[in-house]
Amino acid sequence: MSDKTKLNCLSDNEWQDLKNIIIFGIGRQGKKMFQTLADNFNILAIIDNDEKKIGTIYQDYKIKRLDDVAELIKETKIIVTTSQYYYKDIRKQLEGKGLVENIDFVMYQQFITEWFYKYQKKIYLLKTDISLTTRCTLNCKNCMQFLPYWDEVGENSLESIDENLECYFDCVDYLFDLDIVGGEPFLYSKLYDFVELIGRNYRDKIGYVGFITNGTIVPKDEVLELMSKYNFQVSITDYSQNITYKHRIPELIKKLEQYGITYMRNINIDWFDFGFPEKKYCYDDKYAVTHMAICNSIEHVLDNQRLYYCGLEWSAQKGKLFEDEEKAYIDLQRLRGRTPEERKQILEMILGNIEGGYLEFCKYCGGFGIDNNNRVNTAEQMPRRK
Ligand code: SF4
Repeated sequence: MSDKTKLNCLSDNEWQDLKNIIIFGIGRQGKKMFQTLADNFNILAIIDNDEKKIGTIYQDYKIKRLDDVAELIKETKIIVTTSQYYYKDIRKQLEGKGLVENIDFVMYQQFITEWFYKYQKKIYLLKTDISLTTRCTLNCKNCMQFLPYWDEVGENSLESIDENLECYFDCVDYLFDLDIVGGEPFLYSKLYDFVELIGRNYRDKIGYVGFITNGTIVPKDEVLELMSKYNFQVSITDYSQNITYKHRIPELIKKLEQYGITYMRNINIDWFDFGFPEKKYCYDDKYAVTHMAICNSIEHVLDNQRLYYCGLEWSAQKGKLFEDEEKAYIDLQRLRGRTPEERKQILEMILGNIEGGYLEFCKYCGGFGIDNNNRVNTAEQMPRRK
């Protein structure tokens, strides 16, 4: 980690007494952030660039265009809740209105990581993923976790998951978004116990909690009941327009609605070509710094009592497809019970303050940034190796 902090973008005069905000972007990330932002600030408006959303209602807010709130933006800070890929255009759009980055508006990742530390001395993280199992009902050639290339897949014990979470919340005060992933997480054999574990021990420290599923499995009624009780949500990645596969999405949706579980159904998702492991990119050290900064990954993973900066590198390491490198993670064990100042290094890493400015894996990976215009066929299947 370099000495140059990444936690000093927001100037005190502008941000310290923040009360009112505007949310810019009410896609997947905006929806996940909404409740915790609403619990901490007055949301004066939600705006979006998607014409299909304009005029629709989300949580009692009528979604507006930027031009509809021309007066409001002069005196209200804007939190932009879009992926890095779209942020550049939105920044240009806001600058075109005379607004200045980090004074009048800020990207949500920077905001959450910096604001709560600076002004409340708390370690708040935007997003962390936890994998229950690396078994999956699909076998996608371009899986973001490279699972078809692993020699061995399997599930994590409930005890190890609990140890991870206990260690994590000894270091992190609050998490905005916990994504429960797999493989296919609904394959997990202890699903009921896992939901109970989160619900009982950690639910008050997490904003959004959601499973990411491919819609091939419908959990048992007793699990759905518990998910409803603890306000778990579900994000269904629907590949039915891309591939023919045996999904149970209509049945799953019916059940989720029956139990009052909020869900998102995501279709037509573009898949980035990460290159790894078959056609690796090959960036040099110098470009890798820019490449990682442009990527600005929010895919952080909790495993083995460590917080990994990048889920892709975690997966490549865990699957023994790439050598371990220490700077890819923070060892949470050694930060347990430490002061916020000592735990601040978690935030620095989350914002990409990493020794040398990049991860070794970034040299071989296409990333999520605007320098990656390569796409692959979404969810294309390949034969299983065994
Ligand atoms: S470029 Fe690839 S390895 Fe580097 S942070 Fe982004 S997704 Fe991770």
